[in-house]
Amino acid sequence: AELYGINNWGNGYFRINGSGNVSVTPMGANGPAVDLHELTQDLLDRGIRVPIMIRFPDIIKSRVELLNGCFKKAFADHGYKGNYNGVYPIKVNQQRHLVQEIVKYGKDFQMGLECGSKPELLVVLALMNTENALIICNGFKDAEYIETAILSQKLGRNTIIVVDRKEELKMIVEVAKKFNTRPKIGFRAKLNTQGAGKWVDSSGARSKFGLTATEIVDGVEYLKTEGMLDCLELMHYHIGSQVPAIQSIKSSLKEGARFYTELVKMGAGLKYIDVGGGLGIDYDGSGHSDSSVNYSEQEYANDIVSVLQTLCDEKGIPHPNIVTESGRFLVAHHSVLVFNVMGVNDLHRQEPPRPATKSDPSIMNDMQYIFEKVNKDNINECFNDLEQSKQETLQLFTYGVLSLEQRAWCESMYFTIATKMVKLAKTVPDTEDIVTALSKELCDTYYSNFSLFQSLPDSWAVGQLFPVIPIHRLGEEPVREATLADLTCDSDGVIEKFIDTESGEPKETLRVHQFTEGQQYYLGVFLTGAYQEILGDLHNLFGDTDAVHISLNGIGYTIDHYVPGDTVTEVLSYVQYGRSEMVDNVRQATEESIQKGTITKQEAKLLIKHYEEGLSGYTYLEEAE
Ligand code: PLP
Repeated sequence: AELYGINNWGNGYFRINGSGNVSVTPMGANGPAVDLHELTQDLLDRGIRVPIMIRFPDIIKSRVELLNGCFKKAFADHGYKGNYNGVYPIKVNQQRHLVQEIVKYGKDFQMGLECGSKPELLVVLALMNTENALIICNGFKDAEYIETAILSQKLGRNTIIVVDRKEELKMIVEVAKKFNTRPKIGFRAKLNTQGAGKWVDSSGARSKFGLTATEIVDGVEYLKTEGMLDCLELMHYHIGSQVPAIQSIKSSLKEGARFYTELVKMGAGLKYIDVGGGLGIDYDGSGHSDSSVNYSEQEYANDIVSVLQTLCDEKGIPHPNIVTESGRFLVAHHSVLVFNVMGVNDLHRQEPPRPATKSDPSIMNDMQYIFEKVNKDNINECFNDLEQSKQETLQLFTYGVLSLEQRAWCESMYFTIATKMVKLAKTVPDTEDIVTALSKELCDTYYSNFSLFQSLPDSWAVGQLFPVIPIHRLGEEPVREATLADLTCDSDGVIEKFIDTESGEPKETLRVHQFTEGQQYYLGVFLTGAYQEILGDLHNLFGDTDAVHISLNGIGYTIDHYVPGDTVTEVLSYVQYGRSEMVDNVRQATEESIQKGTITKQEAKLLIKHYEEGLSGYTYLEEAE
């Protein structure tokens, strides 16, 4: 357990059970558990395929309750007089079942939804049915977006349109007049306080969205002349996602809250302060990296409440209702990607190639010498000689001195010496550099049945760290070090960044178990529920994976939904290929070849069968039946 740090990042939802498998407790550590390896087997038995995205709605429920509970407690502890009105930004994961689950679990807390575009507003209007819950409209807006939002007020929806660009305000006022409504308006302020972390560009004077102080003052004047200053109900800012440090959250709130108190003073009808997203989660369990957080959700709530309370009390202003737009916090934990390993590129060599002889090139004799003489006392010198021989091999081959067979011999000898040297160096003090350098060269590549670009795009795009661990055999010492290569033909399609519980810094290889051909080895990538599904793309035409929603009860589990992954035909249709035309083309080619006699009718029939089945099949590698 220590090795993979699961107890640090698992948050009580994931741990290792007595069978050496990962156990999932979606309702928290004391709730019912399901064995992830057994569950995977059960799903495979039903014909559901790896890679599988396994979702646990009970985790969402637990997160919704946790966040609301933290604000409730902070209010009680501080004697705060406003309400908490969390909204879920659907951009984080718009899957219908998931948004429906959030609406369902959030009902008791009047949780609302946030949309950042016109299509997202359409989703939100169809799904949000909680009375009085907020619908927050962010993002760039055209007249149609604004009209739809304003008309939704006439359905009794509590829709607030946030002005992200100054041009939007005039449109809102005009549309409201046209439909004879009092609009509910929000202003997004551009804060100067810089955030921190990977998504820091969301704040600062040059951030893409929001109004400057001057624009806000002008906006207030404009609303006043239109007799609509009372419609300005919400003040919003957002400093970026996954904010690693509580200090950034507090300092931006101090600036944001001043906007709030000033706007109240200027006569706005403010009721809400919307502090945006940013509440981070602990991807690596370290508590101090960009992939982690140095605060708990309770501290987050306490700090927001106490800063607001202090500032508002100072200015004699009623405590605002607090809106948060946390999405990552609510959904990241709920999905796990499970995939199988298909094979290994193992560079370790225990047996040397045939001994070099006098008639072989001198480089081969040099390497033979290193292999024979390396010992504890001369290991540093031998390491330098080995590295030099590697460079020389390449040069001699390029200049036409070494044949391909001779180069192959040198390569083989290099890995034999490296294997011997690592073993030796581990017993000699002060040779960590040698162990690190050679282990990196020798590490295995585990070929894995998934696409990084479809399922973990942030791992590629922003170097985000996700916990990856085997979901079984955890009672057994993992003896290999590996990187994970995905199915795409892209050298970026690899995971080379893993949690290291010893140093706390990410490391380049993952400890894994020996892979044996013919036996299944499954790995899980955890905390993938936020952003990954929707940012994922179709690189090399690998489509959506199969997904299942698993709920637990006291006695077992149920599959609430099975969402089949894309078929090849579906993926091809996104790039304008039509199935029947493709089949027809191949059929015609077979007809011509039958005429020419280069293919038999039976072979042609088999080819068409494979072709059609391929088009209906999964885009990932499938197990032979
Ligand atoms: N609100 C806005 C305006 C955002 O841009 C984002 C995403 O960056 C969020 C909320 C979601 O924030 P988080 O990822 O912290 O949940």
